Amino acid sequence: MRYAETGYNLEIDLSRGNIERVQTDPKLTELHLGGLGTNAKVLWDRVPPETEPFSSDNLLIFSTGLLGGTPAPGANRTVVTTYSPQTLLMGYSMMGGFWAPELKYAGYDKIIFRGKSPNLVYVWINNDKVEIRDASHLRGKGAVETAELIRKELKEPNAQVAAIGLAGENRVYTASIEQGRSSASRLGIGAVMGDKGIKAIVVRGTKDINLARPAEYLELCNEVLNYIKLRNSNPVPNVMTILQGLGSPQEMLHTDEKWHTENFMWGNARVRKKDYWNKEVEEKWKATQETVRTRLISCYNCPMKCGAIISVPGLSTYMMKCFSKLTYTMAAFADLDFGFRIAQRATEYGVDGFSTPQIMAFAFELKEAGILTDADFAGCPTDSEGKFFWLLDRIVRREGIGDVLANGTYWAAKQIGKGAEEYAHNNIKKHEQLPLKLGMLNPVYFLMYATGEKINITQIEGQFPQAPFMTMEERQEFIKDWTQVPDEKFKQIVLDWEPRGERSNPYYPTVDMSVDIVDWQEKMHYIDDALGVCAGLSSFPLKPPYHIHNYPKFISSATGMDMDEAGLTQVYKRNRTLIRAINVRRGLRRADEKPPEDHWKKRFPELEEKLLDAYYKFKGWNREGIPTKETLHELGMDYISEDFEQRGII
Ligand code: SF4
Repeated sequence: MRYAETGYNLEIDLSRGNIERVQTDPKLTELHLGGLGTNAKVLWDRVPPETEPFSSDNLLIFSTGLLGGTPAPGANRTVVTTYSPQTLLMGYSMMGGFWAPELKYAGYDKIIFRGKSPNLVYVWINNDKVEIRDASHLRGKGAVETAELIRKELKEPNAQVAAIGLAGENRVYTASIEQGRSSASRLGIGAVMGDKGIKAIVVRGTKDINLARPAEYLELCNEVLNYIKLRNSNPVPNVMTILQGLGSPQEMLHTDEKWHTENFMWGNARVRKKDYWNKEVEEKWKATQETVRTRLISCYNCPMKCGAIISVPGLSTYMMKCFSKLTYTMAAFADLDFGFRIAQRATEYGVDGFSTPQIMAFAFELKEAGILTDADFAGCPTDSEGKFFWLLDRIVRREGIGDVLANGTYWAAKQIGKGAEEYAHNNIKKHEQLPLKLGMLNPVYFLMYATGEKINITQIEGQFPQAPFMTMEERQEFIKDWTQVPDEKFKQIVLDWEPRGERSNPYYPTVDMSVDIVDWQEKMHYIDDALGVCAGLSSFPLKPPYHIHNYPKFISSATGMDMDEAGLTQVYKRNRTLIRAINVRRGLRRADEKPPEDHWKKRFPELEEKLLDAYYKFKGWNREGIPTKETLHELGMDYISEDFEQRGII
């Protein structure tokens, strides 16, 4: 009997209309756990590195995590993996909500799509019965609208639906996959879903999941729930509001946006508005948010209520995604009520709320600079809000100038030329980043931005404070109940880290300390992504309920495998190295590993080189960021070095 996982994947060949239920190899679970780890193994084994993202040979994998759907709070992530059209590297994006647990209850750990459907289809998975159904009547429909129409059509109000909107159908590089209470937005995976001709994947599952030692497991779950209660009533003091609690930053609960509006950039990540937040703005924005927010909601089996149902008069209801309430508002220099209105349309279209507003602001900057012309914007309204609605429509339809912009700022700038590349200034590995521009280089963040393969900083950071505490009393207060640390040395770094002077950024934390901190943060994210646990309860907040000390117990009691901290660390290293190897085979090298030029005003090229050298060495990679033969051997992945040798990579 298989525990925690079902032991079966669903393999769907869209070109041939073939559906198979395939037993998986338990050895792979031991080596990679599940979720992101086993997705990466499938991609390595089955998709040659020469494959184009829009080739029918590219795979699109929807995966639950190893603990997904079990009683562990927050074990609800869906990990979607493919080759990204935007970065051309491995793309993996996560969504919360209810979809992954439902897939497990239907009896599958993953769905692996290959080929392309000649017509638009949706896939209906009802436990053992799986059908590919015509979706031509859903062409052009919004993502949320599609979910509702399908539930009615199937008379299955409880079915979970992951759908694309117009953006995915038209292969817009920032297309997301929406599923009502969450979305997988980054890296253009919605475009690959559209390219494969899948409008939606609908799941209903009513089976059970087996646990190896259920009583022990439930006790661990209760400990986590009790800790969440304790932590919710004891916010971390002396850090900014959004870092005090658990979950994603509770954007729809809080109305105080002083920190975001004054520290994040407006427009195309270029303009900081100091002293923007005053009493008048505060009252106006608070009233707007409280009028449209009908209730706060959680993902499957989680008490945190990070999301909210938004109901703007005259528009259909939707769920506001993390931080999207501000991204459109600030890109368009508009008010919050505009943000709520345009986010509704963007959710139906199915686009990434981090990249898309920046692409639109980028386009208007190019127009102001005379690089794009009035002819490119023929018919565009002149007011700021009207302009954004107009351009969003063009982008998702790939009409006129929208066709070029639909490829994101990096590729659009290349196509437009005439100096446009100067304006595409906020990319890492060809993908738009958070609109943040800071002063002094932070060595830990430098490494995370430069080397991360998820291409989203919020999904790498989390365990270690973002900035030093001002006083020794604050530092002592912080470390006194910091049980999550894998090693006591991290407490000393916090005690010694100063806002100014010798022990401050960029030279403190030192190079070696920075590497250690990044490794710890990465480790927790990679484990979450293999287990399918929400980072909001684990790797993203300070002092979370899941950590390196209790995760092995969860894994052991759920699966029956013997797991300890050293074993889990080894799995993390294997998964981290495998993803690096996939991207190395796709051409990733040291030269690609850099944050946006203007992310920090004060840069230190020599130090940055040292940081990269030390990080690569720590990981067992060579100077180009390529895993060495010895490292691969130590991780039991000689098959990768053999492949590298054949290709002349090492
Ligand atoms: S912490 Fe928030 S985002 Fe994470 S599972 Fe819970 S409700 Fe969802």
